[in-house]
Amino acid sequence: MAQQVQLADFEMGRTLGCGSFGRVKFAKYKPDGKFYAVKFMKKHEIIKLKQVDHINNEKRLMAQISYPFVVNMMGYCKDEHFVYIVMESINGGELFTHLRRARKFSDEQSKFYALQVAAAFAHIHSKNIIHRDLKPENILMLPNGYSKLTDFGFAKIIEPGTRTYTLCGTPEYIAPEVLLNKGHGKPVDWWTLGILIYEMICGQPPFCDEDPMGIYQKILAGKVYFPKYFDKNAKALVKKLLVADLSKRFGNLKDGSADILKHKWFESYELSKLEAFEVPAPYKPSMKDENDTSNYEDIPDSKEPPPAVAASQDPFLDW
Ligand code: AMP
Repeated sequence: MAQQVQLADFEMGRTLGCGSFGRVKFAKYKPDGKFYAVKFMKKHEIIKLKQVDHINNEKRLMAQISYPFVVNMMGYCKDEHFVYIVMESINGGELFTHLRRARKFSDEQSKFYALQVAAAFAHIHSKNIIHRDLKPENILMLPNGYSKLTDFGFAKIIEPGTRTYTLCGTPEYIAPEVLLNKGHGKPVDWWTLGILIYEMICGQPPFCDEDPMGIYQKILAGKVYFPKYFDKNAKALVKKLLVADLSKRFGNLKDGSADILKHKWFESYELSKLEAFEVPAPYKPSMKDENDTSNYEDIPDSKEPPPAVAASQDPFLDW
Protein backbone atom coordinates (compact mmCIF):
# COMPACT_ATOMS: atom_id res chain seq x y z
CA MET A 1 0.00 0.00 0.00
CA ALA A 2 1.56 3.31 -1.07
CA GLN A 3 2.10 5.75 1.76
CA GLN A 4 3.79 8.99 2.62
CA VAL A 5 7.50 8.36 3.24
CA GLN A 6 10.35 10.51 4.57
CA LEU A 7 12.84 11.74 2.00
CA ALA A 8 15.61 11.67 4.64
CA ASP A 9 15.19 7.87 4.83
CA PHE A 10 16.57 7.48 1.29
CA GLU A 11 20.21 7.41 0.25
CA MET A 12 20.13 8.53 -3.40
CA GLY A 13 22.27 6.65 -5.89
CA ARG A 14 22.78 6.84 -9.63
CA THR A 15 20.30 8.19 -12.15
CA LEU A 16 18.32 5.50 -13.98
CA GLY A 17 16.38 7.65 -16.38
CA CYS A 18 14.92 10.97 -17.31
CA GLY A 19 11.22 11.76 -17.11
CA SER A 20 9.36 14.86 -18.28
CA PHE A 21 9.89 16.71 -15.00
CA GLY A 22 13.16 15.32 -13.67
CA ARG A 23 15.30 12.29 -13.03
CA VAL A 24 14.51 8.82 -11.75
CA LYS A 25 17.17 7.69 -9.26
CA PHE A 26 18.15 4.40 -7.76
CA ALA A 27 17.95 4.77 -3.96
CA LYS A 28 18.48 2.77 -0.80
CA TYR A 29 15.70 2.93 1.78
CA LYS A 30 17.65 3.01 5.02
CA PRO A 31 14.97 1.48 7.29
CA ASP A 32 14.89 -1.82 5.33
CA GLY A 33 18.16 -1.61 3.34
CA LYS A 34 16.25 -2.34 0.09
CA PHE A 35 16.61 -0.48 -3.19
CA TYR A 36 13.87 1.54 -4.89
CA ALA A 37 13.50 3.91 -7.82
CA VAL A 38 12.63 7.49 -6.86
CA LYS A 39 11.06 9.71 -9.48
CA PHE A 40 11.88 13.40 -8.96
CA MET A 41 9.41 15.89 -10.43
CA LYS A 42 10.12 19.62 -10.40
CA LYS A 43 7.18 21.43 -8.81
CA HIS A 44 8.02 24.74 -10.45
CA GLU A 45 7.94 23.22 -13.97
CA ILE A 46 4.83 21.17 -13.33
CA ILE A 47 3.02 24.36 -12.30
CA LYS A 48 4.46 26.39 -15.21
CA LEU A 49 3.35 23.76 -17.74
CA LYS A 50 -0.07 23.37 -16.07
CA GLN A 51 0.48 19.67 -15.42
CA VAL A 52 -0.56 19.61 -11.75
CA ASP A 53 -3.63 17.47 -12.47
CA HIS A 54 -1.58 15.00 -14.52
CA ILE A 55 0.96 14.53 -11.76
CA ASN A 56 -1.69 14.21 -9.05
CA ASN A 57 -3.38 11.64 -11.29
CA GLU A 58 -0.15 9.70 -11.74
CA LYS A 59 0.24 9.34 -7.97
CA ARG A 60 -3.44 8.56 -7.35
CA LEU A 61 -3.72 6.00 -10.15
CA MET A 62 -0.42 4.24 -9.41
CA ALA A 63 -1.55 3.85 -5.81
CA GLN A 64 -4.61 1.93 -7.03
CA ILE A 65 -2.66 -0.59 -9.07
CA SER A 66 -0.90 -3.67 -7.83
CA TYR A 67 -0.19 -6.19 -10.55
CA PRO A 68 2.84 -8.32 -11.52
CA PHE A 69 3.28 -6.61 -14.91
CA VAL A 70 2.96 -3.03 -13.68
CA VAL A 71 5.59 -1.09 -11.72
CA ASN A 72 4.33 -0.86 -8.16
CA MET A 73 4.40 2.36 -6.17
CA MET A 74 5.70 2.18 -2.63
CA GLY A 75 5.21 5.75 -1.49
CA TYR A 76 5.45 9.46 -2.17
CA CYS A 77 6.87 12.58 -0.56
CA LYS A 78 7.81 16.18 -1.28
CA ASP A 79 10.12 19.04 -0.39
CA GLU A 80 10.06 22.64 -1.59
CA HIS A 81 11.65 21.78 -4.97
CA PHE A 82 10.19 18.42 -5.96
CA VAL A 83 7.41 15.93 -5.52
CA TYR A 84 8.66 12.35 -5.46
CA ILE A 85 7.14 8.99 -6.33
CA VAL A 86 8.91 5.98 -4.83
CA MET A 87 8.55 2.78 -6.88
CA GLU A 88 9.97 -0.70 -6.92
CA SER A 89 13.21 -0.50 -8.87
CA ILE A 90 13.14 -2.53 -12.07
CA ASN A 91 16.82 -2.97 -12.77
CA GLY A 92 17.02 -4.77 -16.10
CA GLY A 93 16.73 -1.62 -18.21
CA GLU A 94 14.17 -0.33 -20.70
CA LEU A 95 12.72 -2.77 -23.24
CA PHE A 96 13.69 -0.02 -25.69
CA THR A 97 17.41 -0.50 -24.98
CA HIS A 98 17.18 -4.28 -25.42
CA LEU A 99 15.14 -3.93 -28.61
CA ARG A 100 17.54 -1.43 -30.21
CA ARG A 101 20.50 -3.64 -29.27
CA ALA A 102 18.85 -6.75 -30.73
CA ARG A 103 17.36 -4.75 -33.67
CA LYS A 104 14.30 -7.00 -33.53
CA PHE A 105 12.96 -9.65 -31.18
CA SER A 106 12.13 -13.24 -32.04
CA ASP A 107 8.46 -14.13 -32.32
CA GLU A 108 8.74 -15.94 -28.96
CA GLN A 109 10.26 -12.97 -27.16
CA SER A 110 7.80 -10.49 -28.71
CA LYS A 111 4.88 -12.68 -27.66
CA PHE A 112 6.19 -13.00 -24.10
CA TYR A 113 6.25 -9.21 -23.57
CA ALA A 114 3.10 -8.56 -25.60
CA LEU A 115 1.04 -10.88 -23.41
CA GLN A 116 2.32 -9.17 -20.27
CA VAL A 117 1.47 -5.73 -21.63
CA ALA A 118 -1.96 -6.97 -22.76
CA ALA A 119 -2.60 -8.42 -19.29
CA ALA A 120 -1.43 -5.15 -17.69
CA PHE A 121 -3.89 -3.22 -19.87
CA ALA A 122 -6.71 -5.64 -19.09
CA HIS A 123 -5.95 -5.15 -15.39
CA ILE A 124 -5.83 -1.36 -15.40
CA HIS A 125 -8.87 -1.14 -17.71
CA SER A 126 -10.82 -3.23 -15.16
CA LYS A 127 -10.21 -0.28 -12.84
CA ASN A 128 -11.27 2.13 -15.59
CA ILE A 129 -7.71 3.43 -15.94
CA ILE A 130 -6.23 4.04 -19.39
CA HIS A 131 -2.46 4.37 -19.81
CA ARG A 132 -2.24 6.35 -23.09
CA ASP A 133 1.55 6.29 -23.45
CA LEU A 134 2.73 2.81 -24.38
CA LYS A 135 6.16 2.69 -26.05
CA PRO A 136 9.26 0.52 -25.57
CA GLU A 137 10.76 3.15 -23.23
CA ASN A 138 7.86 2.64 -20.81
CA ILE A 139 8.33 -1.09 -20.43
CA LEU A 140 11.04 -2.05 -17.96
CA MET A 141 12.78 -5.41 -17.67
CA LEU A 142 13.06 -7.40 -14.49
CA PRO A 143 16.27 -9.37 -13.86
CA ASN A 144 14.21 -12.56 -14.39
CA GLY A 145 13.41 -11.45 -17.95
CA TYR A 146 9.78 -10.47 -17.32
CA SER A 147 8.54 -6.95 -18.08
CA LYS A 148 6.59 -4.22 -16.32
CA LEU A 149 4.63 -1.28 -17.60
CA THR A 150 5.59 2.10 -16.16
CA ASP A 151 4.94 5.85 -16.50
CA PHE A 152 1.38 6.72 -15.60
CA GLY A 153 2.06 10.41 -16.37
CA PHE A 154 -0.64 10.45 -19.06
CA ALA A 155 -2.92 7.89 -17.46
CA LYS A 156 -6.47 8.78 -16.72
CA ILE A 157 -9.59 7.41 -15.04
CA ILE A 158 -12.31 7.10 -17.60
CA GLU A 159 -15.85 6.28 -16.55
CA PRO A 160 -17.50 3.60 -18.74
CA GLY A 161 -19.11 5.12 -21.81
CA THR A 162 -17.23 8.42 -21.56
CA ARG A 163 -14.36 9.76 -23.64
CA THR A 164 -11.42 12.08 -23.14
CA TYR A 165 -9.92 14.57 -25.59
CA THR A 166 -6.33 15.44 -24.65
CA LEU A 167 -3.79 14.84 -27.41
CA CYS A 168 -1.05 12.72 -25.90
CA GLY A 169 1.31 9.88 -26.74
CA THR A 170 4.38 9.42 -28.89
CA PRO A 171 3.80 10.22 -32.61
CA GLU A 172 4.33 6.65 -33.91
CA TYR A 173 1.98 5.26 -31.24
CA ILE A 174 -0.90 7.73 -31.54
CA ALA A 175 -4.25 6.17 -32.44
CA PRO A 176 -6.32 7.61 -35.30
CA GLU A 177 -9.19 8.65 -33.00
CA VAL A 178 -6.72 10.74 -30.95
CA LEU A 179 -5.39 12.44 -34.11
CA LEU A 180 -8.92 13.15 -35.29
CA ASN A 181 -9.84 14.50 -31.84
CA LYS A 182 -12.96 12.35 -31.83
CA GLY A 183 -12.66 11.54 -28.15
CA HIS A 184 -10.92 8.41 -27.01
CA GLY A 185 -10.97 5.75 -24.30
CA LYS A 186 -9.67 2.26 -23.54
CA PRO A 187 -9.31 1.27 -27.23
CA VAL A 188 -6.32 3.67 -27.60
CA ASP A 189 -4.28 1.35 -25.41
CA TRP A 190 -5.16 -1.64 -27.63
CA TRP A 191 -4.08 0.33 -30.70
CA THR A 192 -0.70 1.03 -29.06
CA LEU A 193 -0.33 -2.68 -28.26
CA GLY A 194 -0.67 -3.37 -32.00
CA ILE A 195 2.08 -0.85 -32.72
CA LEU A 196 4.32 -2.32 -30.02
CA ILE A 197 3.93 -5.91 -31.28
CA TYR A 198 4.81 -4.75 -34.81
CA GLU A 199 7.82 -2.77 -33.58
CA MET A 200 9.16 -5.70 -31.54
CA ILE A 201 8.86 -8.10 -34.48
CA CYS A 202 10.08 -5.75 -37.23
CA GLY A 203 12.43 -3.46 -35.30
CA GLN A 204 10.50 -0.34 -36.24
CA PRO A 205 6.89 0.80 -35.89
CA PRO A 206 4.48 0.34 -38.81
CA PHE A 207 3.94 4.07 -39.44
CA CYS A 208 7.33 5.82 -39.75
CA ASP A 209 8.46 9.09 -41.24
CA GLU A 210 11.09 11.72 -40.47
CA ASP A 211 8.36 14.28 -39.98
CA PRO A 212 5.51 13.80 -37.44
CA MET A 213 2.99 15.05 -40.04
CA GLY A 214 4.13 12.24 -42.35
CA ILE A 215 3.61 9.75 -39.51
CA TYR A 216 0.11 11.09 -38.86
CA GLN A 217 -0.82 10.83 -42.53
CA LYS A 218 0.31 7.21 -42.59
CA ILE A 219 -1.62 6.41 -39.40
CA LEU A 220 -4.77 7.87 -40.94
CA ALA A 221 -4.19 6.05 -44.23
CA GLY A 222 -3.85 2.86 -42.13
CA LYS A 223 -1.85 0.74 -44.60
CA VAL A 224 0.39 -1.73 -42.76
CA TYR A 225 3.11 -3.66 -44.56
CA PHE A 226 3.86 -7.07 -43.05
CA PRO A 227 7.21 -8.66 -44.02
CA LYS A 228 7.20 -12.38 -44.88
CA TYR A 229 8.85 -13.43 -41.59
CA PHE A 230 5.94 -11.98 -39.55
CA ASP A 231 4.21 -14.95 -37.87
CA LYS A 232 0.72 -15.46 -39.28
CA ASN A 233 -1.00 -15.48 -35.88
CA ALA A 234 0.89 -12.36 -34.78
CA LYS A 235 -0.17 -10.70 -38.03
CA ALA A 236 -3.80 -11.71 -37.47
CA LEU A 237 -3.74 -10.12 -34.00
CA VAL A 238 -1.99 -6.91 -35.10
CA LYS A 239 -4.51 -6.54 -37.93
CA LYS A 240 -7.34 -6.73 -35.38
CA LEU A 241 -5.66 -4.14 -33.14
CA LEU A 242 -4.67 -1.59 -35.80
CA VAL A 243 -8.28 -1.03 -36.87
CA ALA A 244 -9.42 2.58 -37.07
CA ASP A 245 -13.09 1.63 -36.71
CA LEU A 246 -13.59 1.34 -32.94
CA SER A 247 -16.59 -0.93 -33.36
CA LYS A 248 -14.26 -3.50 -34.96
CA ARG A 249 -11.07 -3.08 -32.91
CA PHE A 250 -10.10 -6.03 -30.67
CA GLY A 251 -10.35 -5.16 -26.99
CA ASN A 252 -13.46 -3.11 -27.72
CA LEU A 253 -15.78 -5.91 -28.86
CA LYS A 254 -18.29 -7.80 -26.71
CA ASP A 255 -15.64 -10.14 -25.23
CA GLY A 256 -13.35 -7.22 -24.35
CA SER A 257 -9.74 -8.05 -23.52
CA ALA A 258 -10.44 -11.82 -23.78
CA ASP A 259 -10.25 -11.53 -27.59
CA ILE A 260 -6.61 -10.55 -27.12
CA LEU A 261 -5.56 -12.57 -24.05
CA LYS A 262 -7.01 -15.76 -25.52
CA HIS A 263 -5.75 -15.12 -29.06
CA LYS A 264 -4.16 -18.01 -30.94
CA TRP A 265 -0.80 -16.22 -31.00
CA PHE A 266 -0.66 -16.44 -27.19
CA GLU A 267 -1.82 -20.07 -27.08
CA SER A 268 1.55 -21.41 -25.89
CA TYR A 269 1.41 -19.35 -22.66
CA GLU A 270 -0.83 -19.74 -19.65
CA LEU A 271 -1.36 -16.28 -18.21
CA SER A 272 -1.79 -17.46 -14.59
CA LYS A 273 1.62 -19.15 -14.81
CA LEU A 274 3.17 -15.98 -16.19
CA GLU A 275 1.55 -13.93 -13.42
CA ALA A 276 3.27 -16.22 -10.91
CA PHE A 277 6.59 -15.85 -12.83
CA GLU A 278 6.60 -19.64 -13.25
CA VAL A 279 7.50 -19.75 -16.93
CA PRO A 280 11.21 -19.25 -17.74
CA ALA A 281 11.67 -16.07 -19.79
CA PRO A 282 13.03 -16.47 -23.35
CA TYR A 283 15.72 -13.88 -22.56
CA LYS A 284 17.23 -12.37 -19.41
CA PRO A 285 19.10 -9.06 -19.31
CA SER A 286 22.75 -9.59 -18.50
CA MET A 287 23.34 -8.38 -14.94
CA LYS A 288 26.01 -8.99 -12.28
CA ASP A 289 23.35 -9.24 -9.57
CA GLU A 290 19.79 -8.10 -8.85
CA ASN A 291 20.96 -4.57 -7.97
CA ASP A 292 23.19 -4.07 -10.99
CA THR A 293 21.71 -1.09 -12.89
CA SER A 294 24.24 -1.02 -15.74
CA ASN A 295 21.47 -1.71 -18.28
CA TYR A 296 20.45 1.93 -17.71
CA GLU A 297 22.58 4.51 -19.50
CA ASP A 298 24.58 7.08 -17.55
CA ILE A 299 22.80 10.41 -17.36
CA PRO A 300 24.68 13.40 -15.95
CA ASP A 301 23.04 15.12 -13.00
CA SER A 302 22.08 18.78 -13.04
CA LYS A 303 23.99 20.71 -10.39
CA GLU A 304 21.51 23.47 -9.53
CA PRO A 305 18.31 22.57 -7.68
CA PRO A 306 15.21 23.91 -9.45
CA PRO A 307 13.41 26.95 -7.99
CA ALA A 308 11.55 26.31 -4.72
CA VAL A 309 7.78 26.72 -4.58
CA ALA A 310 6.45 28.63 -1.57
CA ALA A 311 3.98 26.74 0.63
CA SER A 312 1.34 29.40 -0.03
CA GLN A 313 1.46 28.56 -3.78
CA ASP A 314 2.02 24.84 -3.47
CA PRO A 315 -0.69 22.71 -5.11
CA PHE A 316 0.85 19.49 -3.71
CA LEU A 317 0.08 19.95 -0.04
CA ASP A 318 -1.32 16.44 0.42
CA TRP A 319 1.86 14.71 -0.86
P1 AMP B 1 9.23 7.96 -16.44
O1 AMP B 1 9.30 9.42 -16.14
O2 AMP B 1 8.32 7.23 -15.50
O3 AMP B 1 8.95 7.70 -17.89
O4 AMP B 1 10.70 7.38 -16.18
C1 AMP B 1 11.78 7.82 -16.96
C2 AMP B 1 12.81 6.72 -17.08
O5 AMP B 1 13.32 6.40 -15.76
C3 AMP B 1 12.28 5.39 -17.60
O6 AMP B 1 12.20 5.37 -19.01
C4 AMP B 1 13.32 4.44 -17.05
O7 AMP B 1 14.52 4.52 -17.79
C5 AMP B 1 13.59 4.99 -15.66
N1 AMP B 1 12.66 4.42 -14.67
C6 AMP B 1 11.39 4.82 -14.42
N2 AMP B 1 10.81 4.07 -13.48
C7 AMP B 1 11.73 3.16 -13.10
C8 AMP B 1 11.74 2.08 -12.13
N3 AMP B 1 10.66 1.82 -11.38
N4 AMP B 1 12.84 1.34 -12.03
C9 AMP B 1 13.93 1.61 -12.80
N5 AMP B 1 13.99 2.61 -13.70
C10 AMP B 1 12.91 3.39 -13.85
